[in-house]
Formats: sequence, C-alpha cells, structure tokens
Amino acid sequence: MARTDHDTWDPATGVGMTATFGAVVRAVATNKGLLDDPFAELLVRAADVHYFTQMVENELYSDDGANSVTAGLIAVLGAYTRFLDDYLADAGRAGIRQVVLLGSGLDTRPYRLWWPHGTTVYELDQPSVIDFKTDVLVALGAELTASRRAIGVDLRQDWLAALYRVGFDAAQPTVWIAENLLVGYLPPDGQDRLLRDVTVASAPGSRFAADHIPTWNPLQLEAGRGFVDRWRQFGLDIDLAELIYQGEYRHVPANLADRGWQTVEFKVADLFATIGMANRWRGGRKGDAITPAYVTATR
Ligand code: SAM
Repeated sequence: MARTDHDTWDPATGVGMTATFGAVVRAVATNKGLLDDPFAELLVRAADVHYFTQMVENELYSDDGANSVTAGLIAVLGAYTRFLDDYLADAGRAGIRQVVLLGSGLDTRPYRLWWPHGTTVYELDQPSVIDFKTDVLVALGAELTASRRAIGVDLRQDWLAALYRVGFDAAQPTVWIAENLLVGYLPPDGQDRLLRDVTVASAPGSRFAADHIPTWNPLQLEAGRGFVDRWRQFGLDIDLAELIYQGEYRHVPANLADRGWQTVEFKVADLFATIGMANRWRGGRKGDAITPAYVTATR
C-alpha cells in the first residue's frame, strides 16, 4: 500500500497534521514541566486547528478511555523529545557543532535550546512546513540560539545535495536526529536511501538517534486506526493508509550496523528511565507492542 503524495501542506490533514500534532505534544509537555518550548503553543494556535488547540487548552484527550491512548502517545512523544534534547546537549559537550534534524516538523530546537558557540542546526522538512514555521517564528520575533539553515526538501529525493548547497561539511562530525520519521512516513526504499546518505555524510565521531517501527504490527495498525477514527470525528481529514507506507522495512539498527555504525537499541520503558521518569511509563505489554523502538548510533 503506498501513501499518496503530500506536496501541499495543511496543518489539519495528512502528514502536515502530524507536524502540528508534534507541536501539540511539546505544548502539553511544556505545560507539564517536562520540556521548555515557549513556541509550541503559539505554533499550534497559528496552525488554527480547533481540535489541536483544545488539546492544549483543555487536555481534551484525557477525558475518556480512547483518549487516554492519545494521552499515552503524547507522554511517549514528549519523553522522546526530552531524551533527544539531552542527547543533543551531550553531543555538544563532546565537541559536535553540526546538527541535522531530519523531518524537523514544527520543532523549534534552534530557538529553544542552548547550543555551544559555533553550532549550526540544519532542519529538513517539506517546503510548506519549513515556510509556515519560519514565518510564525519571524512574526513572533523569536531569537535564534544557533546558526539555523532550514531546507524545504522532499526526503525521498536528493536531500543531501540540498544540504551540501547550504554549507553542510561532511568532513566534520554531525549529530543526526530522525524524530517520529522512520515510523512509516518514508517508503522502505526511501528510508534505506536516507540511511545510506546519512552514512555517506557522517565523518568519524558522528552520532545518530531515531525512533523506528520496523513494519507496523496488527496492534499498531489497530491503535493507529483508533486514533485516526477518533480524530476524524473531530473533523480532521486523515486516513492512515494515506499517512504511512506499509511495506517491508529493513530493521533500522541492523541497517545502520551493516553500514558501520555502533548501535544501541532500547525500548520505551528504557526511554523513560533514561530521562529520570521511569514511573511515568505505565503502558505495560500492550504499550510496549504499539510504541516504536529506539536506536542511537555512533561512527
Ligand atoms: N520531528 C518532528 C516532531 O517530532 O515534531 C515532526 C514529526 S512528524 C510526525 C513527521 C514529519 O516528517 C512532518 O513534519 C513531515 O512533514 C515530515 N515528512 C514526512 N515525509 C516527508 C518527506 N518525504 N519529505 C520531507 N519531510 C517529510
């Protein structure tokens, strides 16, 4: 099953909706004190999707059984953002000054995190997502905390050439982040090419972190359909089959290992433990089965 193309972005439909939902997650996590993203709620408001605004204002997701699954998803995604923020800080302490955020969505790391002097953050996403975010942040007068190069590009195509064009230096170590991207948004061969290109552009000392779903299992499909059905009731025009590709994916850690990376794999419970919030994960076995797996890698 192949997903349809998504050249135009709408904050309430398709893949664009997933970028908006990422901002919802960071807004909720900020309100709970888990993260500090002062721009997330403002981006959600600018996207102007009533259901998402309500999620942030009223924690709409937490008032019944189906919604508690949404609450669980928000908690997992927020914890992963927190984990990655720490991972990036650690890479900075190790001397890495080049950061690439693949499928950066409405994340605002070049504005909201502290970066060592001389850090350049490259953000890659669909042109319309990059433009929307940049316009909103400029209008807000948000100040950059690193040098930012934002590239509107299709990650199924030759994004590496676009990265080189704006000054990326493959001779320097890089920290790469693919957050909520390798979970079906790229087709299997596109995901494979992405990992190949990341490797080609990674000097020794580079690091990589991603969450990943090898191939959606029946429980994940059931949970995914549950979200989509519920969100459609609230007027969001989304269809799971249009959102994600469902093919046979190569296991991301094995793929990276075959390309010469040293990998560490972990699960959602480890994720919460690593950020010092072990008691916040109450998903149990079903939770484990529907959440992504995680990998970090070094070269
Ligand atoms: N990393 C962000 C976060 O965690 O909030 C966004 C995650 S969102 C689930 C997936 C992102 O991948 C969206 O912003 C979407 O536009 C982007 N994306 C999906 N397919 C893409 C493609 N072929 N080219 C460029 N970006 C793509």
